[in-house]
Amino acid sequence: MPEAASPRRAHVVGAGIAGLSAALRLSAEGFQVTLYEAAAQAGGRCRSYVDAKLERSIDNGNHMLLAANTAALAFIAEIGAADRLTQPARAAFPFLDLATGESWTVVPGAGAIPWWIFSAKARIPGSGVSDYLATWKLAVASETATVADCLDDRGPLWERFWVPLTVAALNTHPREASARLLWLVVRESFAKGADACRPYVARRGLSDVFVDPALESLRARGGAVAFGRRLRGLAFEGDRVAGLDFGETRIAVAPGEPVVLALPPAVTGELLPDLEVPRDSRPIVNAHLRLPAGARPARALAPELPILGLVGGAADWLFLRDDVVSLTVSAAEDLAERPSEEIAALMWRDTARALGLDPAGRPVSRIIKEKRATLAQTPAALRLRPGPRTRWANLALAGDWTDTGYPATIESAVRSGAAAAALLARP
Ligand SMILES: Cc1cc2nc3c(=O)[nH]c(=O)nc-3n(C[C@H](O)[C@H](O)[C@H](O)COP(=O)(O)OP(=O)(O)OC[C@H]3O[C@@H](n4cnc5c(N)ncnc54)[C@H](O)[C@@H]3O)c2cc1C
Repeated sequence: MPEAASPRRAHVVGAGIAGLSAALRLSAEGFQVTLYEAAAQAGGRCRSYVDAKLERSIDNGNHMLLAANTAALAFIAEIGAADRLTQPARAAFPFLDLATGESWTVVPGAGAIPWWIFSAKARIPGSGVSDYLATWKLAVASETATVADCLDDRGPLWERFWVPLTVAALNTHPREASARLLWLVVRESFAKGADACRPYVARRGLSDVFVDPALESLRARGGAVAFGRRLRGLAFEGDRVAGLDFGETRIAVAPGEPVVLALPPAVTGELLPDLEVPRDSRPIVNAHLRLPAGARPARALAPELPILGLVGGAADWLFLRDDVVSLTVSAAEDLAERPSEEIAALMWRDTARALGLDPAGRPVSRIIKEKRATLAQTPAALRLRPGPRTRWANLALAGDWTDTGYPATIESAVRSGAAAAALLARP
């Protein structure tokens, strides 16, 4: 009997969501995949860890998916983790204005036509019907237009809807964020109706949903993961990558073996100096506060999705998991420069107001500043996003920052990994 051919090897560098997605896709195509990661753990910008100060497992930052994120949800289903997400019955986003005390809930309409804007009760407080009608300007925005170029950048709808939506979706202030990219978000979510807007968050943590089950699936398919491997250089031969240089370890890449780089843009730019990459990024600050035992919030959050959107203070979103309150500030250029102690005080002020807690009892906290949380989603930076193809026949690029057409999010990371793998698996 002829011996069965041994599977072709494939190499994926970077074990964030994009690398995990690429590795899983290549292993599904029959490749024997090795995933190399510089850190001691996988997940990159989307992971959990046990924090010694809080004595709790926390996420590097709050993450939310919408039902419109079909590739991300398919990835989660493929690794058998769908039941590890919260499953809210409907799309409803509660908001509180910390300055005025007003509260409201954004409930997208059932269908594509937003009839709800004609009901004063359903509209955002202070906004009128005509404010919403201007949304069409996003749909016809030019490639260079910012959100503020298209919409009135004053008034309640701007402050209470467009600013929170844009910084949440694009991590870039609407004064500089791409109008076209925001339109894609609106088109795929609000314009499709409530079902596409259903929000999902990790019940127990990001690694429990995205990372641990992905690694298990990869290993079950014969894949291997090598931690502590920082790629320092690539060796080229003719039109292909022939070697990976990890400093003390060098890996030969045989002809026909795919290599996917699923690395941050700056790292990719250093490894491939001829490639122009978008280098401009925006930070996200997250604060995790462990509430004192017996703290009794006066404001209850919905048990099926304990989150609250905030305006009029410093924080954008508040998430509650067990006794840990986690607050997010996106597009946090100014805040990220301030000392953590100062940020913790501001976040506790917002938390005490939002939940109706005694402000005197400031809890133990952890501030996480993700200085390069995402690429700056400005028209200029977006033009620099490369696609997966490189000039090397067996080398493809992945990462949320590559040109997937989607904002730099989990959805984009998953899509980018799948696109890079598909390009090399079936050239
Ligand atoms: C605080 C925060 C909140 C967010 N909120 C949301 C949200 O609500 N919804 C959403 O969809 N998205 C959100 N995002 C974005 C989301 O986390 C990212 O889009 C996604 O995790 C990017 O994955 P990636 O694989 O492209 O990149 P990364 O996660 O950056 O992965 C790159 C990996 O490469 C490794 N690496 C770097 N250099 C080397 C090297 N030389 N050799 C080997 N390995 C290397 C890194 O350690 C890392 O593991 C948020 C991001 C942050 C930071």
